[in-house]
Amino acid sequence: MSDKEPPNPFEEIQRQLHELFKDSNVNVSTHSFNESDISDNEDDPHNGVKSSLNAESSAKDPLEKIRHFQLKPKEVRDYLNRFVIRQDDAKKVLSVAICDHYNHVRQNLSGKKTIAKEYSKQNILLLGPTGVGKTYLIKNIARLIGVPFVKADATKFSETGYVGSDVEDLVRDLVKAADGNIELAEHGIIFVDEIDKIASEVGAGGRDVSGRGVQINLLKLMEETEVNLFSPTDMMAQMQAAMEIQRGKVPQRKSINTGNILFIVSGAFDKLSESIKKRLNKSQMGFGAAQQDSDEDLSSYLRYAETTDFTKYGFEPEFIGRVPVRVACRALCSEDLAHILTTSEGSILNQYYDDFRGYGITFSISSQAILAIAEKASLEGTGARGLMTVLERLFRDFKFELPSSAIKSFDVTADMLEDPLPTLAALKEQGAHLQQDVWRADIKRFAAGFEKIHGFTLEFKPLAEEALIDAAQKSTRSIQSLCEEKFHDFEHGLTIIHRNSGQTVFRLGKLAIQDPDQELSKWVVRSIESLKKDS
Ligand code: ADP
Repeated sequence: MSDKEPPNPFEEIQRQLHELFKDSNVNVSTHSFNESDISDNEDDPHNGVKSSLNAESSAKDPLEKIRHFQLKPKEVRDYLNRFVIRQDDAKKVLSVAICDHYNHVRQNLSGKKTIAKEYSKQNILLLGPTGVGKTYLIKNIARLIGVPFVKADATKFSETGYVGSDVEDLVRDLVKAADGNIELAEHGIIFVDEIDKIASEVGAGGRDVSGRGVQINLLKLMEETEVNLFSPTDMMAQMQAAMEIQRGKVPQRKSINTGNILFIVSGAFDKLSESIKKRLNKSQMGFGAAQQDSDEDLSSYLRYAETTDFTKYGFEPEFIGRVPVRVACRALCSEDLAHILTTSEGSILNQYYDDFRGYGITFSISSQAILAIAEKASLEGTGARGLMTVLERLFRDFKFELPSSAIKSFDVTADMLEDPLPTLAALKEQGAHLQQDVWRADIKRFAAGFEKIHGFTLEFKPLAEEALIDAAQKSTRSIQSLCEEKFHDFEHGLTIIHRNSGQTVFRLGKLAIQDPDQELSKWVVRSIESLKKDS
């Protein structure tokens, strides 16, 4: 099913531009914009003047990966296993749905006839608490398949109500994520989070029409519709399109079809867990599995969700019917979180290794410390996001202090977790005898930077170095910022001296640190005097 073609925004813009410029000397082309100007055909003669949106696509076939899609569900699952810990049900269900979808797309692209006359898209509903890998699963899938991916919160759309242009922005964002390649965007993945927040529950004030409106607009996108490439509310994009026409360029496409875009909607559905729990507990049918989970987290009930649970929750039956693939992700326990740190290829710990290595510091962490961090993170109640919170809090002072210290290795142990500051102080104490070397290296780095910018060599004598280090310690400032302040504008005086004497190398003593301007003035005067003497 396809909607009617949306109104053509270019003609209106062109008319307005014409009005705007009619009394001026600006010549506005009156090239009329016909349907025949829009072409999907690669052989079209207009291809010589492709719109900027399409320019890149010609270089290499961006759909190549999809045209050759041959993955099997177990291979997708194995790929996901490299990054995502647990969530075995979700991995299985997603792997099958993704392979089915892209197999179908591949067959379509190759023009092969399929047996099924109608294709029901495998739009997916991912349930589960926050920070357990729902988005991460889909991001990794998009990367594996080689398609663009966008994510937005459904609540964003309820703000503006059911105008409709907002949900369509998702599709336009997909074009941006595909670097402007419309065809690739037409095979991308759209992820709408917090979908549970737009359930149109009957509240005190009656039915929430706004949520219902967003569901209906999303439904249209999920089925198949044409979305204008330029939002009617985005004046910049409209102007850009009009300019292209003015320059005689004819955009090849004005809309994007959503028929092959895969939609994933997702949410925590806290209240739904409660009602499913009640339903199962009331039931006489003997849901043994549910009973066993009684001491588990409430979200574990989400895997028993049925269509009626969603309609009672406030979803339109048509909407929920369009997301036939439903699967729940589980809450992560502290062992899972530890596992994420140690085994996921996307572990945030890798960033810390890289960050410290950037300053020449070797970073290591004991397994006991990892377990303790995971315990703390689990108390945050935000899934794997808790890991980021705990690690950031734990390492923030180390990341600030260690790069300016003489410390070359940093080993994290479980003992330091409760109170990291004494560990930091002890580390700094250990490296204190080498700290002088670090500061001297900082002075050399400033001098090298100065030379690069201004072409003058600054040589700091030992007493000057001592004075600088002393001043930096007293003011607790970095050598770099202190030097920048002291030698700010220095290059003007040095340029005068250079003009008078040809000098490019300057040796700085203690006085140049104590009062740089006065010292520089002395040097300038001396250079003028010697110039006079020579003449
Ligand atoms: P949500 O379930 O709310 O969509 P995300 O998938 O965005 O959560 O998770 C946030 C981050 O936490 C991810 O980018 C990833 O680094 C990490 N993460 C979450 N769950 C897992 C998991 N099961 N395995 C590995 N990393 C995970």
